[in-house]
Amino acid sequence: MRKPEDELTDLEQRGLLRGLRPIRNPDLPIVELQGRKLINFSSNDYLGLSQHPILIEAATKALRDYGTSSTASRLICGSLEIFHQLEEKIATLKKAEAALTFANGFVTAMGVIPALMSKGDTVILDKLAHACLIDAAKLSGATLRIFPHNDLNKLEKLLTSSNGRTLIVTESVFSMDGDLCPLSEIVKLKEKYGALLFLDEAHAIGVLGQTGQGLAEKLGLQDQIDFQMGTLGKSLGSAGGYLASSRSWIDLFINKTRSLIYSTAPPPSQAAASLAALDLLNSPEGIERRGRLKTYSDSFASPTPIIPKIIGENRSALAASDSLLKSGFLVPAIRYPTIPRGTARLRITLSAAHTTENLNDLKEALALL
Ligand SMILES: *Cc1c(COP(=O)(O)O)cnc(C)c1O
Repeated sequence: MRKPEDELTDLEQRGLLRGLRPIRNPDLPIVELQGRKLINFSSNDYLGLSQHPILIEAATKALRDYGTSSTASRLICGSLEIFHQLEEKIATLKKAEAALTFANGFVTAMGVIPALMSKGDTVILDKLAHACLIDAAKLSGATLRIFPHNDLNKLEKLLTSSNGRTLIVTESVFSMDGDLCPLSEIVKLKEKYGALLFLDEAHAIGVLGQTGQGLAEKLGLQDQIDFQMGTLGKSLGSAGGYLASSRSWIDLFINKTRSLIYSTAPPPSQAAASLAALDLLNSPEGIERRGRLKTYSDSFASPTPIIPKIIGENRSALAASDSLLKSGFLVPAIRYPTIPRGTARLRITLSAAHTTENLNDLKEALALL
């Protein structure tokens, strides 16, 4: 029988071994790793909200008002009022009839897609879709069809030969490449073939759109996306996942989604921080932070704050990350299976919490790699 030690040795030999490093984060954008202070270019806290006094105050107040735990599943006695307030706010912002929230984005997808799709149906996924979307599609028992990244011709071909309920699944901002999906064209195709569209806005919410709601908002397409999904744990500086859709779909998910039904609702303080963050997105401060983030992304000629530097070989990517560490920057090396084999890379993420000086220092260090 395979022993864990053998698998670990194998991973090590292929440059694919991973481990957890304890980190302290006293002050954005600084992280402390083994006593060393580094500028953090690896978090998804795009707006720098995770230590914002307004979010901390909202979470603290909720701890006092509701306690530390929801104590049961939403369907038993865990459906605290604050979750309903959060869901109403999300539905309004998403121009949808209703919304449902979860402990995180991963379990949102893992719960919703299998509730929606089953054997005899067809899930059509972008090749670079996030692990939770792929795993959810597999779990559903539906037939899986993959199209090459953003390849509309292939997507259309797959749509012409799909069976049962058909769901297109893609992301607005791809998490490891920082590029966008051709959303307007995908919406046209889904209409033409009568398919449903599931859009994961995990890296777009807070970053794109007039009020920071993501790519669908930016393109005025929110009411044409059947399922708008995202996380409250990245640019919103909190934690949680959401799905916005029609009232009937949401009612069906309340009845069928196993990660909602059989799991203790997340702590109410998490919902409070999310509500505060959503309000902040639309405040002058939120608009200012989003603007600064856009200026920073523009300075890297990138449409989003995710900037990949493709290196190729696993060990070279690790060495590049190590070299940046020595210069005072935390930039992770991303390897298979997070990304396709042979495309190991540095993944730089920008934040409104950075200063122009942080960015210039990083650019100098990158030039020396
Ligand atoms: C991070 C991420 C998720 C999962 O969200 P969490 O709240 O972190 O669990 C889902 N989809 C994409 C594209 C992501 O990048």
